[in-house]
Amino acid sequence: MFIAHLPAGYLATRALRPRLPRDQWGRLLAVALICSVLPDADLLWFYLVDHRQTEHHAYVTHWPLFWVALALAAVLLPWGRRRAAAQTLIGTGLICLLLHMAMDSFAATIFWLRPFSDLHLNVVEVPARFDWWVWNFIFHWTFAVEFAICITACVVAWQTRGTRNATQA
Ligand SMILES: [Zn+2]
Repeated sequence: MFIAHLPAGYLATRALRPRLPRDQWGRLLAVALICSVLPDADLLWFYLVDHRQTEHHAYVTHWPLFWVALALAAVLLPWGRRRAAAQTLIGTGLICLLLHMAMDSFAATIFWLRPFSDLHLNVVEVPARFDWWVWNFIFHWTFAVEFAICITACVVAWQTRGTRNATQA
């Protein structure tokens, strides 16, 4: 996926909102949005260090079990009285991280069980029809799905904005 990670993370977090503490909403949304795009920070390594030698979806930053293990380790830290708030933040972040990998599984190869297995998932193969690889994704039908996710997120954000303004009036 290209452009839909951030709006999908927003929509997922909005869907979770009734179950989330109201006083943490701003912090939770910030963590969710960061986590929804965080795995793609490996593009810096891909371009600047690895010089495009390894497909970036194969990096540890795109291994779902890496993030699950990291989240479990974070939960086990001595949070004291902030334990509940920390668990909510970690859980919300993990959901958005896993959503990122689930979305990437549609048009890229994601190794869901690494480092234990090379079992991978790639639902749709995007054919290489253009010289510049970006066009291959933009002119593929999966991009229409991404666009729809973006539009949906904009509509939900707009409706939510209207609701918030109405309740403040
Ligand atoms: Zn990704």
